[in-house]
Amino acid sequence: MKTYKKRKQTVKAIAIFFLLFITTVGGVAAWSISNSDEKNPILTEHSYEYPIKLSPPSSSQTQKYKIMIDPGHGGKDPGATGASGNYERDYTLTLAKKVFDLLRDDPMFEPRMTRTTDVFVELEDRAAMANEWQADALLAIHGNTYTDDSANGTETLHTHDDSNLLAQTVQKNVIKALGFRDRGVKEERLKVLSLSEMPAALVEVGYLTNAGEEAVMLSTDGQNAAAKGIVEGLKQYFLQYGEHPSSQEEQQLDGSHEYRDEELPNVDSSVNIDKKMYYNGSAEDGKQVALTFDDGPDTEITSEILDILKENEIKATFFIMGKQAKAHPEMVKRIVKEGHVIANHSWSHPNFNKLTIEESLKQIKDTQDQLEAISGLRPLLFRPPYGELNEERVQAVHELNMAVVNWSVDTMDWSGNTASDILKIVDKQMYPGGIVLQHSTGKRENTVEALELMIPQLRDKGYTFVTVSEMLHLQGYQDA
Ligand SMILES: [Zn+2]
Repeated sequence: MKTYKKRKQTVKAIAIFFLLFITTVGGVAAWSISNSDEKNPILTEHSYEYPIKLSPPSSSQTQKYKIMIDPGHGGKDPGATGASGNYERDYTLTLAKKVFDLLRDDPMFEPRMTRTTDVFVELEDRAAMANEWQADALLAIHGNTYTDDSANGTETLHTHDDSNLLAQTVQKNVIKALGFRDRGVKEERLKVLSLSEMPAALVEVGYLTNAGEEAVMLSTDGQNAAAKGIVEGLKQYFLQYGEHPSSQEEQQLDGSHEYRDEELPNVDSSVNIDKKMYYNGSAEDGKQVALTFDDGPDTEITSEILDILKENEIKATFFIMGKQAKAHPEMVKRIVKEGHVIANHSWSHPNFNKLTIEESLKQIKDTQDQLEAISGLRPLLFRPPYGELNEERVQAVHELNMAVVNWSVDTMDWSGNTASDILKIVDKQMYPGGIVLQHSTGKRENTVEALELMIPQLRDKGYTFVTVSEMLHLQGYQDA
């Protein structure tokens, strides 16, 4: 039925091994290439969709989240000795400075460091600096060590319960950035974290005692990637769970945070849209997954995707571009008729942070009007192109009574990933409440091929497929 499937099935075992190898080892290199050189021929076509990209500074935002960055060890305390003989104290400082620079350039944040040179600082003093400054988060940076030099992977530690979500978003994004093994988030009693009066997490980026990981960790590319991952983690945390900085004092008095899961409405009602950005559903709803397809519809790939979904009796969510809807209204109708949810993905896929608020809203409204004209439905869900939407614009979208939804699992299907790459990503990053980002336009044969294999793979693990609206307990559309 689908010729691409047969073609891909002829791939030899050696080729598969090679692909697995470049997925893990080459991932970091490819990542840094895509960020350092936009003209790279491999990634030019689709590099627009890469989500780890920072918002341009905006002078309109004055209140910032205060982040204390804590480079582990220092001075007389060298920390771990890496496979190459380099010390952890130097690694942590170099990486911390990169994190500092990225945070400083981001209008959302104001960073400080517990040390900026190779000096020894007591753990109590590190926590005290964060407490006295009334930081909104403390993020300690370390490299791991073990007697067995094959030990590997990234882990993030926290001590207080209310730091779990911070640890989760940092862990997830460092994994995404470096592609190291996911050792997970762990609760451990650590002095610097237990003495901190704000959400605090410690990321062990990788094992310095593992020669392969150390090489990546000490490389400029690896450090740029790790720094961006950490910053993206902080960003997601505050966009998703953060209170506005002005309410920080109240928040710290009783030590409580209003986490998103508790705010999720139980009834279907557009009135209770979460005022943050959604990245995933609640694990409490069981092993649910929501498949999403962006940038369409087109005539070919969208149709292939719809066939597969139909065969498997799965309802998905399509984030549609207004101009694509205008070009292919029959496909929009088919999506709706087959029971999927249509959502708004802007008119022409600009980066909203580079538009005025007025221009941003026009992109959304024009698309709403177009979709309503075709289907009679006005979507409730909006996903910004590139996942980029600063706080000011998130608020503006909420004023349209729409929910902003990004994703938790990025298949990077636009990047040249093969179906097997995509399946590996899904296998690794999926957890209950996961929202999977795929694309339904262009030459996305890899997406279609992966989809056919992903569905049974997830079902075997006990996942059920829901629309984003169901997952988030929202109605699909605005009231007429
Ligand atoms: Zn898109």
